Amino acid sequence: SLLSAGPSRFYDAIVVGAGIQGTFAAYHLAKRGQKTLLLEQFPLPHTRGSSHGQSRIIRTAYPQDYYTAMLGEAYRLWAELEEEAGTKLHRQTPMLVLGRKDNPAFQRFWDAMQRNHVPSEALTAESLAQRFPGIHLRGGEVAVCDHTAGILFADKAVKAGQDQFQRNGGTIRDGEKVHGILPGAVITVTTSQGQYRAKHLVVTAGAWANRLLAPLGLHLPLQPLRITVCYWRAKAGSPPGLLEKLPCFLGINLNGEKRDLYGLPAGEYPGLVKVCYHYGTPVDPDHPDQPGSSAPDLRILQDFVSKYLPGLEPEPAVQERCMYTNTPDEDFVLDRHPHFRNIAIGAGFSGHGFKFAPVVGKILCELSLGEEPSYDLVPFQISRFSSQLKAPCKPPN
Ligand SMILES: Cc1cc2nc3c(=O)[nH]c(=O)nc-3n(C[C@H](O)[C@H](O)[C@H](O)COP(=O)(O)OP(=O)(O)OC[C@H]3O[C@@H](n4cnc5c(N)ncnc54)[C@H](O)[C@@H]3O)c2cc1C
Repeated sequence: SLLSAGPSRFYDAIVVGAGIQGTFAAYHLAKRGQKTLLLEQFPLPHTRGSSHGQSRIIRTAYPQDYYTAMLGEAYRLWAELEEEAGTKLHRQTPMLVLGRKDNPAFQRFWDAMQRNHVPSEALTAESLAQRFPGIHLRGGEVAVCDHTAGILFADKAVKAGQDQFQRNGGTIRDGEKVHGILPGAVITVTTSQGQYRAKHLVVTAGAWANRLLAPLGLHLPLQPLRITVCYWRAKAGSPPGLLEKLPCFLGINLNGEKRDLYGLPAGEYPGLVKVCYHYGTPVDPDHPDQPGSSAPDLRILQDFVSKYLPGLEPEPAVQERCMYTNTPDEDFVLDRHPHFRNIAIGAGFSGHGFKFAPVVGKILCELSLGEEPSYDLVPFQISRFSSQLKAPCKPPN
């Protein structure tokens, strides 16, 4: 029975999902003195969610002010974790926002960067060609450089967050899947290995979020997507240093694409540049290998690389897989469950959530503890989706 299971079955807070968001939620809870359990279905570290790999872009350039507003604190908290862990988790690299001058999405970036005084610089095609000779823009296209940008070392960051969580008294149980959540003033969480109870719960289950939320009467419009992560080699005979001189970039609707493309200089594979399409193929997170072709995304990438990065072989040298979990507006979900207010939900990070994780974790910690959150969360509320609630709202067995 629960009683004979001993005191380690009782916690102040439980966090479900040890990706980067759950890791930081648990980290903040433990630092706030909450006895916290972090549960993860797979043995850690793993590559089956959204937080694995070695690189993620961090930047202040965002078209929406509510994201820029979180980034000042995000940079500070990343630096704090680096300090605590005694590990470097970040390196600065300029990031170019590329687009047509007359493109509304590109203009929104540019306007927001000026409005928010982001240390940045507009580059003409000529100055771009001098500074970053690997990138070829076409007529009417320009670049803005975000000087605050950089690369976060993703795997190291997840590990550092989990280490510091444990240092602050937190418990991680991995290879232990949550099967059920019974809400109440004290919440009961049933896993593959037992039952735990806590007053506060955070659900950060990535692409699996709806599996846990549906029995709690909530169905969020989340679309898991399979992303093909491609790494590209320089052509034989390319000028020496060409790859080293590439910055991070974000191409807004370049080459007539509806979605963005982005790139990072060589890191995880020496001499291979990471260039990806910011969209993917709908996927069942439990069957990521199911049929559903990535060929269209690959063709888009190949066409882009051959035109805009002509120093690279137009055939990827390495392909890996990752997942996005997209909402219809690509804004996050950061909210309490509409009926069970001691359950906080972080989901739908839509392929751009990593950089915010220290702040997202802080917000989820505040929400789960019933506190006033540090940020205006209107853009992230569940109520923005219609028909998100299924009636009747019956607790699971
Ligand atoms: C290719 C790629 C590039 C990206 N680039 C950037 C970038 O440059 N900058 C940026 O800011 N962001 C970027 N992102 C987005 C960012 O990585 C994600 O937003 C972030 O990792 C999401 O973290 P998460 O914790 O929500 O999800 P996850 O990492 O998937 O974590 C969820 C965890 O919950 C666990 N779980 C699920 N169900 C259960 C259960 N029932 N019981 C126990 N555990 C469970 C899962 O196993 C998983 O470990 C990128 C993403 C990808 C895929």
